[in-house]
Amino acid sequence: MRIHLCGVRGSTPAPGPEFVRYGGHTSCMAIAHDGGAPRLILDAGTGLRQVTGLLGGAPFTGTIVLTHLHWDHVHGLPFFTAGDRPEARVTLLLPEQATQGEGSAGAEEVLARGMSPPHFPIRPSGLRGTWSFCSLAPGVFKAEGFTVEAREVPHKGGRTFGYRVSDGHSAIAYIPDHCPTALGPGPEGWGEYHPAALGLAAGVDLLIHDSFLLPDEVAAEASFGHPAADYAVGLARRARARHVLLTHHKPDRTDDALDALAARFRPDPRVTVAAQGQLIDL
Ligand SMILES: [Zn+2]
Ligand SMILES: [Zn+2]
Repeated sequence: MRIHLCGVRGSTPAPGPEFVRYGGHTSCMAIAHDGGAPRLILDAGTGLRQVTGLLGGAPFTGTIVLTHLHWDHVHGLPFFTAGDRPEARVTLLLPEQATQGEGSAGAEEVLARGMSPPHFPIRPSGLRGTWSFCSLAPGVFKAEGFTVEAREVPHKGGRTFGYRVSDGHSAIAYIPDHCPTALGPGPEGWGEYHPAALGLAAGVDLLIHDSFLLPDEVAAEASFGHPAADYAVGLARRARARHVLLTHHKPDRTDDALDALAARFRPDPRVTVAAQGQLIDL
């Protein structure tokens, strides 16, 4: 599989000269089978706009899977030109929320709470093309020729899933928003290495994980719902993931600060700091 990193920023976009090398778009990964166009998209942050450029003028045909509904994971949706055109065919899957209604109407309705007048001119069903909106429960399903496993992980404010995606040859785990300290301090103080996280990451070729905080920020800021980068590296080690990609960077984390983060982990060749525009072939 080929993974396009279309947005690696957390919380809110980060434009400006200090954010050029790692990029300012919020969470979005586009996955293709070898040699093909992206068909499976993980999260619809502002990085979703980058996917249009990957399609060479073609409409998007495929599936978008959301980890949760926070702004930095959905705000690209109405600006996804390749998906908002008559020939597009899009299935959008989101974690079923405790407060939503039944079936597909419920999925569109819960998404529309943040995307409808007066917050935004149209609601999700107003996008052009053929869109279907569906809720997901934890479990395993097939999408666009990939096997996807969804497990609930602790975060803050709304139900959040992490995903494991496999094409039968390679496997990745995608956990961009994760608050393991909500379950306790764990062995090093970075949070619990709990069964859902360990199960998603077990033996994967690539763990793509939330690395929002630095260790000295955890005490004051973990209550916002994120871990230190050190947790991501610790999880990869315990789950025997072959590589870990640190993502969902704090919006004020400059290129220089992310270089420093990379330098801190550099002795370990299995750790990479995610940059927008990066391509990963597995
Ligand atoms: Zn986020
Ligand atoms: Zn979030």
